[in-house]
Amino acid sequence: MSAVWTNSEVVPLSREHRIERETHKLEKRLCRLAGQAITDYNMIGEGDKVMVCLSGGKDSYGMLDILLKLKQRAPISFDLIAVNLDQKQPGFPEHVLPEYLTRIGVPFHIENQDTYSIVKDKIPEGKTMCSLCSRLRRGILYRVADELGATRIALGHHRDDMLQTFFLNMFFGGKLKGMPPKLVSDDGRHIVIRPLAYVPEKDLVRWAEHRQFPIIPCTLCGSQENLQRKQVAAMLREWDRKHPGRVDNMFTALQNVVPSHLADGTHYDFKGLIANGVAREDGDKAFDPPELPSALSVPGLQVIKI
Ligand code: SF4
Repeated sequence: MSAVWTNSEVVPLSREHRIERETHKLEKRLCRLAGQAITDYNMIGEGDKVMVCLSGGKDSYGMLDILLKLKQRAPISFDLIAVNLDQKQPGFPEHVLPEYLTRIGVPFHIENQDTYSIVKDKIPEGKTMCSLCSRLRRGILYRVADELGATRIALGHHRDDMLQTFFLNMFFGGKLKGMPPKLVSDDGRHIVIRPLAYVPEKDLVRWAEHRQFPIIPCTLCGSQENLQRKQVAAMLREWDRKHPGRVDNMFTALQNVVPSHLADGTHYDFKGLIANGVAREDGDKAFDPPELPSALSVPGLQVIKI
C-alpha cells in the first residue's frame, strides 16, 4: 500500500486517496504533453479560433477537455468551438453531444449532413465505405471551419494513431510517412492540428473512464473495421507491454530523422556528394558499427546470444 510521510509516522493512503492522486497525476501529464506539442509545433496562437472536431469517441472528448484546461492556463487568449458532424447514421444518438456541450458550457455547432445515405448509395455492399465517407466528412468540415471563422481545425488523433499510420504506410504503402502534428489542409486553406500528438492512447482511455464521457459507439455505420490498423495497433500494444519504452522511442525517432542515413535521393543529394575534406562529427563512420547505447540500458531491447 502507498503511504505518505509525516514527521513521525507513515500514514497509509486510502484507496480513494490513491485514485485521486493518480488521477491528478494523469491530468497533469495530459496537460503537459498536449501543451508541449502545441508549443513545439506552434499549433495555436494569440486570437486563434480553434474548431474542435468532436466525434463522440474518447479521444475527441479528451482533446476538448484538455484544451479547455489549457485555455484557462495559457499565456495567450484563444477561442474554442466544438463541432460535430452528424452523418445520419442509423441509431446515432443526436441528443448526446448537444446535451453534454450545453452542460459544460462550450459553444458548439452540430452540422447535419446525410453522408451515410450517399456512401451507402455509392459503395457496393460488403466494400469498405471509409475512404468515401472520410473524404466527404473532410470537405464538409473545411466548409464549416470557413463559415465559423475558425483559424485552426483540431483533430483528436493521439501518439498511437500516428505510429500506427507510420507502420501502415511502411508495411502496405512502401513509404516512410506518418501523420503530422500540424499540416495545411489539402485544399490549401486551413491549418489542421493534432494537440494530442504526444499523448499515449492508454492515458486517454483512463481519462475517459475517470471523466465518464458519454461515449457514442463508432460502429453505427456498419462498415468493416480496418483489420490492418487493428493488427498494427495490437502489435504496438504488445511491444509496449513486453518492452516498456520501445513505443516512446519510436515516437521520438519520428522527430529525429536523418535523411543522409536513409536512401531517398529526393531528400538528400546522394548523387552530388563530394568529399570536401571537412570532417563532420555527425558524418558516417562507414566502417564502424553504429554507436548505440548498451543493450542493457535500452528499454525493450533484448540481448540475443549467438
Ligand atoms: S468507420 Fe464508418 S463513419 Fe467511420 S469513416 Fe468508416 S464509414 Fe465513415
